[in-house]
Amino acid sequence: MNVYQRIFEYTPDALLLVDQAGHITLVNAQAETLFGYDRSELIGQPVEMLVPPRFATHHARHRNGFMAEAHGRQMGAAVELFAQQKHGDELPVDIMLSPMIVDGHHFTLCVVRDITERKAAEDKLRQQTAELQKLHAELKELASHDGLTGLYNWRAFYEHAGQMLKTAHRRQEYTTLLMLDLDHFKQINDGFGHAEGDRVLRAVASTLNVTARENDIVARHGGEEFVVAMIGLSEAEGLVAAERLRAAIAAIENMKTPITVSIGVATLAPQADKHEPSRVLADLLDKADQALYAAKNNGRNQVCHFDHLADLTHPCNQSRP
Ligand code: GH3
Ligand code: MG
Ligand code: MG
Repeated sequence: MNVYQRIFEYTPDALLLVDQAGHITLVNAQAETLFGYDRSELIGQPVEMLVPPRFATHHARHRNGFMAEAHGRQMGAAVELFAQQKHGDELPVDIMLSPMIVDGHHFTLCVVRDITERKAAEDKLRQQTAELQKLHAELKELASHDGLTGLYNWRAFYEHAGQMLKTAHRRQEYTTLLMLDLDHFKQINDGFGHAEGDRVLRAVASTLNVTARENDIVARHGGEEFVVAMIGLSEAEGLVAAERLRAAIAAIENMKTPITVSIGVATLAPQADKHEPSRVLADLLDKADQALYAAKNNGRNQVCHFDHLADLTHPCNQSRP
């Protein structure tokens, strides 16, 4: 064996020389190992014997095209290629093609490299990346949503309500803030157990979600308290919206005891001056909280507006029919 033959024979990639008709004319030791054939079984055979049957027809067509217009083809091209071993197993492979002319005859040198390990590493990396992305999405969800009800948590509410206040100022619109607190919720926990309490909280959350408008921001404030921020409603319209939420919660069925909620409302009229959103929000929340306290004191299951608290001629519940 001369040095060139040795190089051909012992190169770490599988090498096959294929003639213009697609027959294998030469193979090296690595090709025997890779495909599991003795070279005597390969020589003179169509190269498609090394191609999985489902690709064989396509391969033959492609090969003819390649022969007609021969050009180099690099390893690691985007397409996924598979070779078939003697005992039927498939291998992911990279294939490099080099056209050559020997004594006036056209051949193609095929360099075939087993990429099983690389593919496995890529698959593992892809799987790990997908798991990380899923985890990241879950963490993001956890950071902004309440685990029990799926509503925005307090932090997310602050962020979105702050944005809403800025939008309201820009558009010179009203902002309405509702604080909702379930009535005698402790009795539900005490009477029917914490799990039933949780079920009630989820039912209330989903009722708020479906009853609120798309632009409303609905959040769990903590415990059995919820907050809703609304844009573009006058004081009277805000009261109507709050009353609609109160009535929807009172109409929840399939619970072990009727559910009611008290709601405090505060409205911010369009402001000429721009104020720090967090301070405006804190002020609105404080007012809504005071109105909520009044609703509780006034008998619960009702809506009270902060602006009417001092006005005895405007009792709470004034929006109810
Ligand atoms: P009020 O009408 O004055 O609001 O009375 P209340 O019983 O609703 O109010 P209170 O603040 O006394 O009770 C709230 C209860 O909510 C106490 C607490 O154990 C319960 N709670 C807070 N968070 C959760 C929760 O995530 N799940 C359940 N099941 N209960 C909770
Ligand atoms: Mg409470
Ligand atoms: Mg309560």
